[in-house]
Amino acid sequence: MTFPRIDLHLHSTCSDGVESPTRVMEVAHAQGVNVVSLTDHDTTSGWDEARDACARLGMTWVPGIEFSASLEGDSVHLLGYLVDPTFPDLVEEAGKTRDDRVWRFESMVSKISADFPALTLEFVLTFHTEGGTLGRPTIARALLDLGVVGSVSEAFDEILAPDNDKYFVGHYAPTIERAIEVVLAAGGVPVFAHPWTAERASLARPGLSDQEIDAKFGALVDRGLAGLEVHHSENTPFGRERLAAIAAHYNLIVTGSSDYHGDGMKPVLPGEHTTDPDMFERIAALGTGSDIVRA
Ligand code: AMP
Ligand code: FE
Ligand code: FE
Ligand code: ZN
Repeated sequence: MTFPRIDLHLHSTCSDGVESPTRVMEVAHAQGVNVVSLTDHDTTSGWDEARDACARLGMTWVPGIEFSASLEGDSVHLLGYLVDPTFPDLVEEAGKTRDDRVWRFESMVSKISADFPALTLEFVLTFHTEGGTLGRPTIARALLDLGVVGSVSEAFDEILAPDNDKYFVGHYAPTIERAIEVVLAAGGVPVFAHPWTAERASLARPGLSDQEIDAKFGALVDRGLAGLEVHHSENTPFGRERLAAIAAHYNLIVTGSSDYHGDGMKPVLPGEHTTDPDMFERIAALGTGSDIVRA
């Protein structure tokens, strides 16, 4: 048996990635990854295509979704593995988020175009793939094309940053407690995605003691949170250490992933961070809403 190399967090054109589910699986395969999950934001529409590609490439397929959520006013993400994609509350919450993103996208584009008139809605939409998520990555690519920024990441750090009140607009998302509840009810395994980034150290507000921060994670564990995505390029080095300690304290599943969004997007490739096989087997044992297809 080949040694498992497990990347459980990848995006395609079904949300805000720039490559098809098939292409994402091919890139993962080329990087030596052999257990994958496609975790598009607020949708499972890429599953069938990704599952077929995995079968063809000899990779183990793990169904996943990344829910947009809110936590103390911050935008955060919750991964849901092995959910039932037809579960009504899941379909409804994901649909509400996707719908509200349309209005939010148009208002961000209109605010930015007041200063950068070339950024018309029509122009930005040329960077959108039908069926995908309307979001900041689309606007970032348009800004890059116009030469306003030198890279997609620069657009995120400056013009599109959440603390840039001039341009940033939020969108509807369920609370993380609600998202955990929905993932569990759909038979899934809820894992807090990149919980400790510089952009949103949501539970680690300045002035909180270590014990207070631990207790905030503990409150989510009480709601059924099953894991933490510790190994992720956007978690700060300090955050990774603290998250590993919190996971050990509450006996949580620890995952690691690339969060690949396609060529030219985040500067990562599939397999950049990986999940340990024993942690993957804990996810496999807990989830009941959909099936892993093992290679
Ligand atoms: P939004 O959901 O519209 O607020 O945009 C946030 C999304 O942008 C998240 O899914 C991130 O994964 C993605 N993102 C953040 N930084 C980057 C980057 N440098 N390149 C591509 N996508 C990014
Ligand atoms: Fe994304
Ligand atoms: Fe995310
Ligand atoms: Zn993601």
